[in-house]
Parts: sequence; structure tokens; C-alpha cells
Amino acid sequence: MHLNDILAAARAIAGTATRTPLVPAPAFTARAGQPFLLKLETTQPIGAFKLRGALNALAHLPPGTTGVTCCSTGNHGRGVAYAARARGLKAVVCMSALVPATKVEGIRALGADVRITGRSQDEAHAESRRLAAEDGLFEISPFDDPHVIAGQGTIGLELLEDAPDLDTLLVPLSGGGLAAGVALAAKAINPAIRVIGLSMDRGAAMHASIRAGHPVEVEEVESLADSLGGGIGLDNRLSFSLCRDLLDDIVLVSEEEIYRAMQALYFEERLVAEGACVVGIAALIAGKLPTPKGPLATVITGRNVDMEIFTRVVTGKVVRLGDRRIEGRAYAA
Ligand SMILES: *Cc1c(COP(=O)(O)O)cnc(C)c1O
Repeated sequence: MHLNDILAAARAIAGTATRTPLVPAPAFTARAGQPFLLKLETTQPIGAFKLRGALNALAHLPPGTTGVTCCSTGNHGRGVAYAARARGLKAVVCMSALVPATKVEGIRALGADVRITGRSQDEAHAESRRLAAEDGLFEISPFDDPHVIAGQGTIGLELLEDAPDLDTLLVPLSGGGLAAGVALAAKAINPAIRVIGLSMDRGAAMHASIRAGHPVEVEEVESLADSLGGGIGLDNRLSFSLCRDLLDDIVLVSEEEIYRAMQALYFEERLVAEGACVVGIAALIAGKLPTPKGPLATVITGRNVDMEIFTRVVTGKVVRLGDRRIEGRAYAA
């Protein structure tokens, strides 16, 4: 894949996906000792960046395609549903029972069929594969597809257009479509830029796979960063090798660190965002980042958060996630 694929994706999605703002975050700037910028993908029409990849994938469907299917932790399904509706195509979105109700409802509201199967992304993926084989739907991977990666990579183009002197990019990391695309674009423009992937410390599939030297399975557990759950696929074709080759580092953060960073983003910057978005801020607050020599930016990837959990977090209440309990703690700067 090349920068040209990402430049073409930018043209393909223009007009439907939003060119999102990059805004300064004074409180995090003070902490980092360098300008700290937020790329607000929360302002996309579906409230998350995944619309970019979905639109670009739908711009490259084989002729005669009548419908599409995908598995999703919520936001890819929303992107695919939105893009399919815009093009008059049927969409079937497969999700596990771990996906929050607010995301499921958002997808149904866009007119897509929703299938809830099993308790993991792998099970949801098996279902979307079955639909592709048996019902003739075209399957769009949430991260392991060149058009999806190029679509997400348009974030990297915009970041370097708006802030050419960026030193470090902090990119939330799950299946790696976002990190691969952003790193590809950013490093093609400025090879010296540092790109760091961030995941939660339980069930970080890309991190475990890069360590092992090949894609591995991890146990999927509930997390405040629910959009970062799920495997990368044992038959991963693209996102694994791109992340392995392009990311300078991967940093893991705990649920407690994510909890605190969600509070910080809300109280310091007045932003409502998913747990998956704040992993870069969590790493900054926890002192887990290398010292930056220039401006940093992170992608605030989506705002489709379960409002009951969000409200508990910002009001300092206990949150239960499966077998885990995160102690309540009121925000203090
Ligand atoms: C999908 C998603 C991510 C991670 O993207 P990958 O391409 O799977 O690494 C991060 N944040 C949000 C809100 C997402 O929906």
C-alpha cells in the first residue's frame, strides 16, 4: 500500500465524511510540556472515524454487489450501515453480545439488519463470513482491508496538513486499520514522525501478536475501551504486518487509567468520548509516554459511548465490567 491509495481515498470520501477539526488541549499541553492536539473524529456524521474506511470500501465494491456484511464492535457497523444506505445497498451487521446497546440501536436506526451472535468478535466474524459465503453479500473487514486502511489513513493526511511539525502521534489500536493507515500516511509525509499505538492492558490482540511474531488469539474481556476489543484474525493479511513495521511502540493502559482519562477529557476539555479514545491521554497522565521533542496529537476516535457507564465514570462511581470492578474516584486534576 502507498500514500497514493490514501490520497485517492481522501477524494473518494470527501463530501460524505467530515474533514474533522484538530484542536489544542491546554490541560494536556501543560502536562506534556509540548502542544497536545486532539483530532475530533467525534464530529463525523456517525460519531466515529470508521465512516472513512467504510465509505472508501464501498467505493470499490465488485460490480453487481447488491449488499454488504461485516462484523463490528459497533462503530464499523455504523459506518458500513451509513455508507450502504447512502448507496442504496442492503447491509447486515454481525456483532457479539459484548457490544453496548447504544451502538446496536444506532446501527438499526440506519436501516441495517443486525445479527447478535456469541460473546466475541471472532464469533461475530464467523457469522459475517457465513453470510458472505451463503447469501452472496460482500464482506468488509473492520481493519484488514486495503480500502478500509486507506480510508482511515486520510486522518493522517489531515493531521500533517494541519500540524506539519508533529513529533508524536498517539493512535488507539485494536485491529490496527486506523494505526496502519495513519502511520502509512504520516510516515510517507514525514519519516521522522513517531507513531505510537495504544491499547488496554487486557486483551490487546495486536500487541500480543507483534510480540509473538505472528497473529495470536487473546481472550476478549469487557473493557471501558469496548471499541478496542477483539482479535486481529489468525489469517490477518495486512494490518498485522503494517503495524509491526510502522509503529514505533505500543503502550498499554489499565482500566483505572482509562477511567481517569475519560474524566480528564470531560472535565478539562468538556468532551464526551468513548473509553477507546482516551488511551493516549491515559498514557500521558500515567507517565507512560517517551518525552516528546515537539507537538503531539491523538485521535479522539468516537463518541458512541454507553451514557450510563459514561455518567458513572464522570461522577466518580464504581463501574463493573464482567469479573472486574473499577473503584469509584472523583476527578481531581
Ligand atoms: C475501531 C475503533 C478503534 C480502533 O481501530 P482499529 O482500526 O480496529 O485499530 C478505536 N476507537 C474507536 C472508537 C473505534 O471504533
